[in-house]
Amino acid sequence: MTHTPEDAEARRAIAPVICYPTDTLPKPDLDDYHARRREAQAEETVIVPPREARHFHVPAGGFFRITSVEGPQVGDLNLFNAADPRERFYSGKTRALHGTHLTTGDRMWSSFPYLRPMATIIGDTLDWYGIDGFGGSVHDVIGTRCDPYTHHLLSGDDYHHCCHSNLTRALADAQDVSLTEAEPLVHDVLNVFMCTGFTRDTGQYFMKASPVRPGDYLEFFAEIDLLGVLSACPGGDCSSEHSSDTATCYPLKIETFGSSQGTPWKMPEPNGYDRSHGR
Ligand SMILES: [Zn+2]
Repeated sequence: MTHTPEDAEARRAIAPVICYPTDTLPKPDLDDYHARRREAQAEETVIVPPREARHFHVPAGGFFRITSVEGPQVGDLNLFNAADPRERFYSGKTRALHGTHLTTGDRMWSSFPYLRPMATIIGDTLDWYGIDGFGGSVHDVIGTRCDPYTHHLLSGDDYHHCCHSNLTRALADAQDVSLTEAEPLVHDVLNVFMCTGFTRDTGQYFMKASPVRPGDYLEFFAEIDLLGVLSACPGGDCSSEHSSDTATCYPLKIETFGSSQGTPWKMPEPNGYDRSHGR
């Protein structure tokens, strides 16, 4: 063990600074989104069966809503540019910009070199939850997704209905490609309705029973043409375990709404960096 320096407490006492102050980040115009939402027509309803994933399309300027039905259930969400799946949700940078958990007014940002808003959250019936006494909160961008590789590493078993595999199968169906082609496009998720945090003593990722109840929803505005894929996690409400058939699981409902007939929506441009990287 390393010798503790004499000024250790002084060094620990230095106040943190926010890595990415968001004062210069353009603020979403939620009033405009809600006005558009009132005009938007319902298009499609997709039911995601327990321990499975399904895909959906939303045009730029449209909306989608993910609703808890029947019982508490967590969902793992992937988003792609419908025209080019190489542009996909970037969980890590979204976390750096908005924090560990998302709610109304936060955005889902896309991967480099695009780094633009893909979707903006316009409604969250769990926004009352805040941060609980354990440091837990809802809709995280800190988890990755349950997957058969980590499960195999820790248990030696093979389980085929982890969110990673569910998302892979559903994306392969959506794109009409093989599992081998689809798998590398699957990415770290937005954990819809999941209640998570890091333990204060060991810094470990924790989950606890989701506070979601049937009727609760998270609703999004589509900034660009989207292909979404949602998995109903085999962890159910994630109160005990995932990566098995043990937990009680419920379906999730996805509803999509078209672009309103009024003012046309102009998609945000990809990031303006010139990509010369100093050469
Ligand atoms: Zn999962």
